[in-house]
Amino acid sequence: MAVSPLPGHHLPDESLALVDEDGERVELDSFEATLLLELTRGLEPATVSACPGCRSRVLAVVAFLDLLEAALAHERVYELTELAEDAPTLHLYVADVASDCDHDEWRDPLYDEWADAFAELPPVGRLAP
Ligand SMILES: [Zn+2]
Repeated sequence: MAVSPLPGHHLPDESLALVDEDGERVELDSFEATLLLELTRGLEPATVSACPGCRSRVLAVVAFLDLLEAALAHERVYELTELAEDAPTLHLYVADVASDCDHDEWRDPLYDEWADAFAELPPVGRLAP
């Protein structure tokens, strides 16, 4: 399958999508995503598994909530907090929607869990115009 590098291949405003096991979802545009990563040290302290090729990752909910305490300036922080607090499991799943990464290098059992979390949703960012 050809990979298009063209802008507009994905929804222009969507950059990161966070979902929980129930499919509850918060989507961030590129500005919001960049700001969140800046305010949370790239989410590293809450990351339990991550794709080496993009920003997709699995987060530990409790550590993520701790990080959000330092991100109160973020305009979506209440949505993100609600998502984390209502998460039915200990993990949240972050998809790097802006990336064309196939996650081939992400060799971790948690990748399967991550893929399952997104499997039941419509393809993220791959909608035809
Ligand atoms: Zn990836």
